[in-house]
Amino acid sequence: MKGKVYLVGAGPGDPELLTVKAVRLLSSADAVLHDELVPPEVLRLVSPTAQLHNVGKRCGKKKITQEEINFLMVGLAAAGQRVVRLKGGDPLIFGRAGEEIEALRAADTPYEIVPGVTAALAAAAAAGIPLTHRRGPAALVFLTGNRAASNQEINWRDFPRSGATLAIYMPGHNYGEIALRLRTAGLGRETPCAIVSRASMAEQQLHVTTVADLPTAPRLAAPALLIVGDVVRQAAQSVPLAPARNPDQFLVELGPRELAS
Ligand code: SAH
Repeated sequence: MKGKVYLVGAGPGDPELLTVKAVRLLSSADAVLHDELVPPEVLRLVSPTAQLHNVGKRCGKKKITQEEINFLMVGLAAAGQRVVRLKGGDPLIFGRAGEEIEALRAADTPYEIVPGVTAALAAAAAAGIPLTHRRGPAALVFLTGNRAASNQEINWRDFPRSGATLAIYMPGHNYGEIALRLRTAGLGRETPCAIVSRASMAEQQLHVTTVADLPTAPRLAAPALLIVGDVVRQAAQSVPLAPARNPDQFLVELGPRELAS
């Protein structure tokens, strides 16, 4: 009998932002393949009897290739296992889910996708920034600052004209380069932008600046995301640290019976 693969969003870090479905699947999985981005507080929710594979890639150096991940998922499911492929945020945003879905379809492996809270939404929530506004932007663009993460060089010039708020994933540490790309695309020097680091985690941080001053902004700890656009004017000037959570207490709150099953 064939098992099944669940592509599950782990959310931005705070385990309380997992979906109920994600928690149920983690507690009943036979195998969990997770990315580097998934914090220990979330991994604590995995069934103690499940095999746990860290298939994350650190600093661009591949520990395990995408082909190997696909092979592992398909193989475990073929052996009848319930496999959770756990990805930070939402699995369908900058998560290479496209390649995994292709591999699962090619192998005729049953699969299901469980969405998660993507980093842009958690960052906006942490900073108190409305991403759209009735009297302002009516569009939101998810971009990556990492050229290697996409095959095509997207022309950033299309975005300022639309007036959309920009959520820039993987900004890296070269804020000067990002600022140059934004200026070249036609964004004004005074356009506000926010760097949100480790949104929803105990150590979350916010720095509000402008495109002109972005190159000299402090490099906040990864993972961090940039939000660019007029709506950033509404940002809180700083964010309180999210209260540190004791994972054991969290497990108790969720109910030990579900977790033990
Ligand atoms: N699938 C993920 C994105 C993976 S790309 C999602 O939907 O969120 C990894 C990038 O996501 C990081 O470089 C960073 O830009 C962003 N990111 C992930 N978690 C974050 C967090 N808690 N706070 C800020 N940015 C985060």
